[in-house]
Amino acid sequence: MSEWRQDPLSGRWVVVAPERGLRPDALLRPRPTMAPGPCALCPGREPLLPRALGTQEHDGLWQGRAFPNPVPALRIEPSGARRVDGPLVALEGLGAHELLVPTRRHGVPLTRLSRAEWGGLFAMYRSRAVDLARDSRLAQLELFGVEGDGEPGHAHLQLRALPHGVLTAPHSTARGSEVCPTCDLVAHELQQRVRVVQSGPHAVVLVPFAPLAPVELWVVPRSHAAAAHDASDVVVDAVSRALAETLPLLDRLAGMPVVVWRLESVFRPGDPGAHWRVVVRTATAHAAVESLSGLEPVLPLSPESVADALRAALGSMT
Ligand SMILES: [Zn+2]
Ligand SMILES: [Zn+2]
Repeated sequence: MSEWRQDPLSGRWVVVAPERGLRPDALLRPRPTMAPGPCALCPGREPLLPRALGTQEHDGLWQGRAFPNPVPALRIEPSGARRVDGPLVALEGLGAHELLVPTRRHGVPLTRLSRAEWGGLFAMYRSRAVDLARDSRLAQLELFGVEGDGEPGHAHLQLRALPHGVLTAPHSTARGSEVCPTCDLVAHELQQRVRVVQSGPHAVVLVPFAPLAPVELWVVPRSHAAAAHDASDVVVDAVSRALAETLPLLDRLAGMPVVVWRLESVFRPGDPGAHWRVVVRTATAHAAVESLSGLEPVLPLSPESVADALRAALGSMT
């Protein structure tokens, strides 16, 4: 029987309707072939790109690089002036738009990055967040990656800094509350063990109660912290390890036509209810149409069956 479910952190509703008959392996599709290298992000092509804002190095070779997006959607030069025309409000395109390349290996998808590459990515994020925080006009950071049909064959993520005035909705509904809803939720999930895929002392991987996509994973640090760039090395390593171990499961389960990776983290202090996490969604063409429609998503798989399948896949790999 179908069921309305509300995500406890965002308040958003979805419909879980497993009677529509899908099984996790029904999503299986071959991965789109990666474009052959070398590409503009490959070693040796550095002169073609803007000067790096930061690098991760090992044995004298860069392992990860951050640089300004060559075709930025936002720039730091505008003043961010507001333009009002009756009920219409616009702001100049103030912000920052950067690319973070987590690997020098061409053709390795985001779901196959190593623990060290994820760790390097978080280290680059930390240094970019500290740098961008010096600009008091910037209020929010977004780190995300989309991979799938039509994307180039070199893994990368986009970092956007948004100015005050265009903040997107916070992921926490508990502003002003003394209890963090994410800590509360993680404790509940760990007690039930129904949607938990993997857990360790510092990080937990779970399928959310009311996901936005047929296959969705959250990687949540267990210790409360609002901002990813403030996380300790131990926590970052645990999250990196969880990503390196569980994201390959998505290949086995869903074949991943499109993967959306997103870091949800606060940039400025002041939201006691915020708790950083990584959200990974596999999109299907059908789900994309539903999201364009603005309607509440209908999930053809129960999150519990997805968690079962992921735990089984994890067990078969270890
Ligand atoms: Zn490349
Ligand atoms: Zn918390």
